[in-house]
Amino acid sequence: MALEFHCADVGVACKNVATAATADELIAAVAEHAKAKHSVDLNQTLIDYAVTKVRTTGG
Ligand SMILES: [Zn+2]
Repeated sequence: MALEFHCADVGVACKNVATAATADELIAAVAEHAKAKHSVDLNQTLIDYAVTKVRTTGG
């Protein structure tokens, strides 16, 4: 089982998909990507919103 976060799921015109085994790792990956590619610093509000968009994949 893995967690996925798709930038497109939050309305961003970006095909990036972040994947991780745990929510903490996923948020870290998303935060790094958001900063690097979108010049966005994730605050708690954005993190809370992003968490609602996380997909669970695999078995
Ligand atoms: Zn992105």
